[in-house]
Amino acid sequence: GYRSRSAFKLKQLDQQVGLFGPGNTVVDLGAAPGGWLQVAAEEVGDDGTVIGVDFQRIRDLEDHDTVETIKGDMTDDRTKDRLRKLVGEDGADVVISDMAPNMTGEYSLDHARSVHLGRQAFEVACEHLGTGGDFVVKVFQGQDLDDLQDEIAEEFQYVQRSSPDASRDSSSEIYLIGKHRLTAPLGVDD
Ligand code: SAM
Repeated sequence: GYRSRSAFKLKQLDQQVGLFGPGNTVVDLGAAPGGWLQVAAEEVGDDGTVIGVDFQRIRDLEDHDTVETIKGDMTDDRTKDRLRKLVGEDGADVVISDMAPNMTGEYSLDHARSVHLGRQAFEVACEHLGTGGDFVVKVFQGQDLDDLQDEIAEEFQYVQRSSPDASRDSSSEIYLIGKHRLTAPLGVDD
């Protein structure tokens, strides 16, 4: 079974827009306990690579030796360095982020923190995604969502919003999906 209910949300997003292909390299931010890692590993198969980052420990995924994990804070430059080394020069095909802040219950603060994490993920996507690559990021709804969506739209062929059925209970979270990275920086183009 999957380690999280989020796994079903990712499966639904993949069915909606087609994220993964065999042999892909996937970067998964905020990956603990590992449900998304399991789904991504199934989709990319034995020739793929899945790299998960979280400041919480991710228990070993015994069934998937294509999965590598980094324990670190994604807002920390040292974590970004470690990720850079693991991803390597070929870059990534898909960057997905389910990162969420610790909830305070204060709506605007939780939203602001969520958007901040979303921007960190977007930065990682811009650095590592090759041309044609896809990006998924979870954000809590609020006033800065449109701005983040506009920023993402500039880097991808199109961007869309999705609230998977599997996440309807916590109605404030949505996923922004950037499809088909337009022009990758030198070095990660494939
Ligand atoms: N997608 C995961 C799964 O399917 O198992 C569930 C992810 S959970 C909703 C959100 C995760 O984001 C938490 O494990 C949390 O530790 C992580 N997170 C939040 N802020 C982070 C940060 N700055 N750096 C790394 N991970 C972070």
